[in-house]
Amino acid sequence: MNIDKDKPSTWIKYKESLCRDCMGTCCTMPVEIKIEDLVRLQAISEDDLHISRRKLVNRLKKEGVIQSYRESTQLFMISQRSNGDCHFLDPKSRLCREYPNRPNVCRAFPSIGLRPGYCPKIKKN
Ligand code: SF4
Repeated sequence: MNIDKDKPSTWIKYKESLCRDCMGTCCTMPVEIKIEDLVRLQAISEDDLHISRRKLVNRLKKEGVIQSYRESTQLFMISQRSNGDCHFLDPKSRLCREYPNRPNVCRAFPSIGLRPGYCPKIKKN
């Protein structure tokens, strides 16, 4: 069965070794992160925590870091390229450019996500 990231029923049971030659499919799905994640990613400074949320959101959108912000959950959606790649994904190596500082939700995947314990692994070309 072909793996389709949008159809969790096609995902396979996760084990760490699957990441080795993966094209980083999990980094091509929408990712919502908290403001603390933006600080750790060094996309914003500690001082930025005190400026108006609207100003901050506009700046991050302009810089291409986020594509939206949800007031109700206070979550920021990381920008995706036209092919779905996360803003922080290296298109060549297919690895996260900010791996040591990656958001908590990325650290927790696939324990959390659309199908906990399963991942949409697609082999790197
Ligand atoms: S921040 Fe890094 S680990 Fe998280 S989705 Fe983007 S590229 Fe992947």
